[in-house]
Amino acid sequence: MSTAMGTTSVVSVDERSLFDVAIEQFNIAADIIGLEDHLRARLSTCQREMTVHFPVKMDDGSVQVFEGHRVQHNRMPGPTKGGIRYHQNVTLAEVKALAMFMTWKCAVVGIPYGGAKGGVKVDAKAMSLQELENLTRRFTSELMPIIGPDTDIPAPDVNTNAQTMAWLMDTYSMNVGHAVPGVTTGKPIVLGGSEGRNEATGRGVVYAIEEAARDLDMDLSDARVVVQGFGNVGGIAATLIEQVGAKVIAVSDSSGGIYNPGGLSMKAVHAYKAETGSLRGFPDAEAVSGEELLELDCEILIPSALENSITEDNAPRIKAKLIAEGANGPTTPEADLILHDRGIALLPDIYANAGGVTVSYFEWVQAMQAFPWTEQQVNERLRLIMAKSYVAMRDTSRANNVNFRTGALVRAIERVAEFTRIRGVYP
Ligand code: NAD
Repeated sequence: MSTAMGTTSVVSVDERSLFDVAIEQFNIAADIIGLEDHLRARLSTCQREMTVHFPVKMDDGSVQVFEGHRVQHNRMPGPTKGGIRYHQNVTLAEVKALAMFMTWKCAVVGIPYGGAKGGVKVDAKAMSLQELENLTRRFTSELMPIIGPDTDIPAPDVNTNAQTMAWLMDTYSMNVGHAVPGVTTGKPIVLGGSEGRNEATGRGVVYAIEEAARDLDMDLSDARVVVQGFGNVGGIAATLIEQVGAKVIAVSDSSGGIYNPGGLSMKAVHAYKAETGSLRGFPDAEAVSGEELLELDCEILIPSALENSITEDNAPRIKAKLIAEGANGPTTPEADLILHDRGIALLPDIYANAGGVTVSYFEWVQAMQAFPWTEQQVNERLRLIMAKSYVAMRDTSRANNVNFRTGALVRAIERVAEFTRIRGVYP
């Protein structure tokens, strides 16, 4: 299939991995740039991929063996950076793709990191807190040779949180013999975490929407918003967009969705989820399936769950005018083309959810300097970076007559290619 955005594969998304999708997106941008073959080969592969199998003591006295991965896509700009995910569907291909997205994301917002990602194939929700601690400490020990404040810095992702990062930081610190707060970000504040880091990804999504809304002449106080996924990213983005005056009409989690065209109170929804553990049965709303939720009549859609939610099957029926990708990889390349043809603006993951890694960078800077910033300083600097990066992404997209994803990728790959080229080939 040949389009204004480049050449895409016709293999259905079910038959290819997220890494295949990442390479398709990379090739579209690399074609536009006219990237040299040697840089194309270097940047389309991951520099380091580590797979470990490790034992964990379970509460019933048994020992189970788990599989985990840590992938560093590009180690050229500085330390590598990326979250650790606990999920039953984690694969090496997924972790590689997410590591590559992290390289582009850091370049889009101009922070001096390469991309990394980690994951353990595990049903985290079926484990006790003690089992999760055992798993995290042993996985960290396995990663010791390749992580560190100057080499590779993990952060939270799906089913991991500040407590997970505290266990990781403690395990690393005990192994090297002194406290090393800079080995991870997304830590509890008391351990050197940053003010505003917990909210940073959702906050960045809302800052991104505010930038785009100005260009689209969209009044956020009239906007109806649908949010898929109600965790760290989606739950916080929903609350913050309500605070800027928009009406959140539907939200979902893995138990399904809830919808009220008159608007949902985020305070009430969060309280209900905290009490019952899910959104299911929330009063004053009708239940909708995950599929129906994506196609609801609204101005803004924020997919904030997992990959491949918006596909060629549902893209023709999506009614939102603006989509902001809170999640990584929620839209397939086929859906990208359909949305672009239909004139729907899409803020891609490597820009829209970059608030998380940006404030992670702030946290690392604060840890290295042992000098904390206020939440106001963090949020102001985040807003500046999201605003500046939006303009750069938009202008690159316009100059090349491509969608925002390809524009962001062109800019990111040009940046990474430049310092890879200048550093040369060792030896
Ligand atoms: P999380 O574990 O806090 O929340 C995930 C949410 O998605 C949960 O509410 C879960 O119930 C829901 N969910 C899972 N499957 C679903 C489905 N099929 N339909 C609807 N909801 C579903 O995870 P998170 O940290 O919020 O991450 C979400 C996404 O954002 C991931 O793609 C992650 O890689 C990306 N991301 C996270 C961060 C971060 O700082 N946490 C930063 C950048 C990107």
